[in-house]
Amino acid sequence: MRDFLPERMILRNWVAHQLRTAFESFGFEPLDTPAVEYADTLKGKYGEEADKLIYAFQDRGGREVGLRYDLTVPFARVVASNPELPRPFKRYQLAPVWRAERPQKGRYREFWQCDVDIAGTTSPLADAECLMVVAAAFERLAFKRYTIKINDRRLLTALAASLGVDGEAALGLFRSLDKLDKIGEAGVRDELATRGIAAPIADELFHFMALGGDLGRMESYFATRGTNATAAAGIAALRTIDEALQASGVGRDSYAFDPSMVRGLDYYTGPIFETSVEEPRIGSLSGGGRYDTLIGMLSGRDVPATGVALGFERILDVIEELGLQPGGLTRTVTEVLVTIFSQETLGESLALARDFRASGLRAELALTGDRLPNQLRYASRRGIPLVAIVGPDELVAGEVVLRDMASGEQTRLPRASAADELVRRRPGQT
Ligand code: AMP
Repeated sequence: MRDFLPERMILRNWVAHQLRTAFESFGFEPLDTPAVEYADTLKGKYGEEADKLIYAFQDRGGREVGLRYDLTVPFARVVASNPELPRPFKRYQLAPVWRAERPQKGRYREFWQCDVDIAGTTSPLADAECLMVVAAAFERLAFKRYTIKINDRRLLTALAASLGVDGEAALGLFRSLDKLDKIGEAGVRDELATRGIAAPIADELFHFMALGGDLGRMESYFATRGTNATAAAGIAALRTIDEALQASGVGRDSYAFDPSMVRGLDYYTGPIFETSVEEPRIGSLSGGGRYDTLIGMLSGRDVPATGVALGFERILDVIEELGLQPGGLTRTVTEVLVTIFSQETLGESLALARDFRASGLRAELALTGDRLPNQLRYASRRGIPLVAIVGPDELVAGEVVLRDMASGEQTRLPRASAADELVRRRPGQT
């Protein structure tokens, strides 16, 4: 859990603005939910390991509650308890979530997630739209080299069935497969052996992985092992997603079907997604998928849903590591510091600051009334680009002195048009 000082916050606010703009451009509506949920709502949704990471406690009324672990379960609760919402219901939410993890690079205990979700349709177009949003968000942030990995839980289920592995053994197999990126094929084979899965089964598993996520080849694979309806539904969904992404201009170089991608959380039922970048190495930037039974777990009535969570903190880590901060982003929100020359001119400084604000400028008054050189030093420390000075001479002449802090250049402006002039000189807004 971290503090964010102003300079950091300015960048965070800019990124949040880009994400909100991308989300709203697809018609996702804003939603907010409380940080605290009933423990019953949170538990039993993510899987045993993840459940241990929920910050749960008893409140003063003796109720078992917990800090939200993600934004998906709170969204599911909102849909479950508001049946009057339109279908499909599309919302976005940017908010902090909490997990009692072991902190490390790119892994925090308090971090923001930025989710888009769609409830009320089984159409794979909805899954595809979530990925279009990821691509649109990354485009706004000037991220170029990323890959959205796509798989479908139904293919994993069908694969396990065709390997003759089921129940706990299948879950173990998926857990080991999930580590393929980290421990390689040999590592996965070792783990499978430890789990008691025979070598010929591992051979067959890697034979399937060698199909490289080619939809046609995966389809033939299942066809030659007896038609499998689960697999066919998975492949059909991935085909629709593929076509929709291409027709929407999401380049084939920014997504890939990856049969080894599993995703940790328990609630997925269909297509699953994860985004990674080559540089820097910090794990996934986004994760998500379809969860057609989660809302039903909360209301007793299934409502299909799909969504994706962008990891805000990791996006910021990437921006900072790759130097992708936009030009023109300042260190401070203040555009102009209005100095105070003396007690006699204080009224004029206050009036000038008010006029600047009325023109839409972010104007700060030098509150200490210190000596002028100190006020200038303060502006320079803060990175405030302009300083407006009104001394007794300017007061008489009806003028303002404007100092450009970068060049040290000073110009005189008529007091009456000073605000307009500053607005005119304003650097391009980002
Ligand atoms: P998840 O809800 O685990 O699927 O995570 C979705 C996204 O949230 C991931 O792709 C990460 O970008 C981000 N994320 C997950 N856990 C953390 C964490 N501990 N610290 C920072 N970001 C995280």
